[in-house]
Amino acid sequence: MKPAIVFDLGKVLVDFDYSIAARKVAAQSTKQLDNLHHSLGSSEILARFESGRLTRRQFFTEMSAFTGFTGTIEEFVSGFADIFVPITPMIELHAKLRQHGCQTYIFSNTNDIAVEHIRRNFPFFANFNGYIYSYEVGAMKPHSKIYEAMEKLCGRNGKEIVYLDDRPENIAAGMERGWNAILHESPAQTLATVEKLL
Ligand SMILES: [Mg+2]
Repeated sequence: MKPAIVFDLGKVLVDFDYSIAARKVAAQSTKQLDNLHHSLGSSEILARFESGRLTRRQFFTEMSAFTGFTGTIEEFVSGFADIFVPITPMIELHAKLRQHGCQTYIFSNTNDIAVEHIRRNFPFFANFNGYIYSYEVGAMKPHSKIYEAMEKLCGRNGKEIVYLDDRPENIAAGMERGWNAILHESPAQTLATVEKLL
């Protein structure tokens, strides 16, 4: 049987830039925060949202208080979501894996604003066998709970899972479970490694 191919999303299939969101949010905010892009992209508020401990509305309320945002939730969501750019060679690799009959999965620390935006705007995103999102599981990579959820979803474990992620701590957790975990550093390198497995 061909291995299941498990893809991280951010910095593997889509690039993102929180400074785009920061400019839009800052334009409608009473506070002018230094490093707002950093706060949007790696705050503990975002971590709680991506762990499923805040609803979209609660996330908006907390972020508005933090930034002094004066716009509506719809304005905040559209500014916060529109930060992604597809990584074409990796999307082509995914299409090729599908043509070879591989089952493919998304495995992401993310939130429902990002998922809704990506689903709406990037057609490739519909073509996976399944999706594991941290905010639905209630745990973020590298916590074992989310890896267990992936194994259960795809019905595989150990070397039957090929896993691509750009974060070393996530890859280390995959390796501990015996997954064939590959640290994604560049499309060219990952393509060369994955094509050898076909
Ligand atoms: Mg990533």
